Amino acid sequence: MAKIIAVANQKGGVGKTTTAINLSACLAELGKMVLTIDIDPQGNTSSGLGIDKTELDNTVYELLLGKVDIFECKMPVKCCEMDIIPSSMDLAGAEIELIGVEHREFLLKKVLDPIKDYYDYIIIDCPPSLNMLTINALAAADSVMVPLQCEFYALEGLTQLINTVNLVKQRLNPNLELEGIVFTMYDSRTNLSLQVVEEVRNHLGDKIYDAMIPRNIRLGEAPSYGLPIIKYDNRSKGAESYMELAKEFIERG
Ligand code: ATP
Ligand code: MG
Repeated sequence: MAKIIAVANQKGGVGKTTTAINLSACLAELGKMVLTIDIDPQGNTSSGLGIDKTELDNTVYELLLGKVDIFECKMPVKCCEMDIIPSSMDLAGAEIELIGVEHREFLLKKVLDPIKDYYDYIIIDCPPSLNMLTINALAAADSVMVPLQCEFYALEGLTQLINTVNLVKQRLNPNLELEGIVFTMYDSRTNLSLQVVEEVRNHLGDKIYDAMIPRNIRLGEAPSYGLPIIKYDNRSKGAESYMELAKEFIERG
């Protein structure tokens, strides 16, 4: 049965999508069966994995609204041996459309049930907020992976996120756990990076991955080619670090 991991942080631009894409691709490269779900209306995971969003009929939007079943909207990723459920801009309105829908926190959880046996891992890329889409991901997930950028406000945001995870755990999903925290855009030359890592380590030491993702130009370039880093430049620091993360993730699992 698949382990479901939500990649979440309400702060924007911290590396959620980059982590969702590259962790998924590295796990697939290591022979795991992987499904990636893009529930962010921005659709960056979809385009970053080479999906042409203008050609899609069935997306996670139609899935959540019950218009299609999951077998009709999951599709293979061209560059890697993995599947994706792509996102659509329509998702931006889903929150309002879902008002009044019964058990709307559990829509994603319910639709995932029939395919859980097909995969080792289901990785969900969340939008940068704690809205109904993120709540759906947290309600469906076994664990949350938090990409954390090494900057001054990181810890503040992290505290808020952990409160939300605890709330979801109490009210919606008692099995939800904190999978781990991965530092992104790390720069060992700056004191700030070192300080942030030190401070988070003092609070949540055992939850921090040894693998840290450095700031790497190739990681920023890869999505414009619709490729994960291991297919774009396998010898880059970015590829190396995400492969390390994937291996550590499997070991800790
Ligand atoms: P959002 O909150 O908008 O969904 P996000 O948390 O998903 O953002 P990303 O989209 O992964 O963040 O990253 C933000 C930007 O930083 C992107 O342009 C991405 O290519 C770039 N980026 C992410 N990680 C790295 C890195 N380690 N090195 C260099 N650039 C990076
Ligand atoms: Mg994103």
